[in-house]
Amino acid sequence: MPIPKPTTFLLGTPLYAKTAYEGDEVWAVLDVLYFNGTYDSYCAKCRRESTFQAKVVERPAAYQRNLAHERLDKQNGIDPKVPSLEPGLYVVHAHCTRTNSHKQDFVFFVDREVVPDHAPPKVLRTIQKVGQQPSYGDLHITQVKKYTHVLSNEQLSELTRAIGLASHDVGVGAYVYLRRIFETLVEEAHQSAVADPGWDEGAYQRLRMSERIAHLKSHLPNFLSEHPGMYSLLSKGIHELSEDECLKHFETLRIGIELILDERLDQRERAQKISAAKAAIQKALGDAGA
Ligand SMILES: [Zn+2]
Repeated sequence: MPIPKPTTFLLGTPLYAKTAYEGDEVWAVLDVLYFNGTYDSYCAKCRRESTFQAKVVERPAAYQRNLAHERLDKQNGIDPKVPSLEPGLYVVHAHCTRTNSHKQDFVFFVDREVVPDHAPPKVLRTIQKVGQQPSYGDLHITQVKKYTHVLSNEQLSELTRAIGLASHDVGVGAYVYLRRIFETLVEEAHQSAVADPGWDEGAYQRLRMSERIAHLKSHLPNFLSEHPGMYSLLSKGIHELSEDECLKHFETLRIGIELILDERLDQRERAQKISAAKAAIQKALGDAGA
């Protein structure tokens, strides 16, 4: 699994989900640990979306990448050197650009350990987020409130519960809730697809979940049907998945759900605009005595 982008790692990844890295993936890890850019997030103090600016921390010289050297090494058939990351805690501090005193902080733990009984000897290097303020739940539960009008109450409370569980490191439980919501959303797309001309229900029933998503492409956001592999795990039984796997894939599933819901919000907004426009036209025509 690739190292998530810094902003995904800061905001999206639940606590304690370990991500292993090796070789030149260390650069992507350093981009997380020394992130100094901006990102958009809900600000709990402004009580609205805002832009946050991460505090700029100078990278130690050993962690600075020299692309020119790397090119030279490659030309000479040498594997470019990669830094060995010091195990320990790393903190990313950020502030709300609307009000400097509104902060967000993220703590990462970098570790390395020798894999037991591995020949040749192998070192497992990992990064995990081990702390943050505001909490993962506070950041995301406020965010999902915007879906109130496009989800049933039951689905909304399941989504909230899933995020709450993930923020307390309960991987399997969180994953089960998200998977249920995701499968319901896919089933709703299936129900509307049944009315399509030439729909072959028997063939659909024989498909695995990831294939169903590809098959429902005109009824689901494009991104989902273009990346059915994102959901290959959905075909696995819950008992086959470890806590860690569930936490790691939680984010993929959450994004998938949000894509579907964002599209529904767009459609709802468009429908509202159309009906407002219709009413305005009616009124204008009435006023004009047409
Ligand atoms: Zn703020």
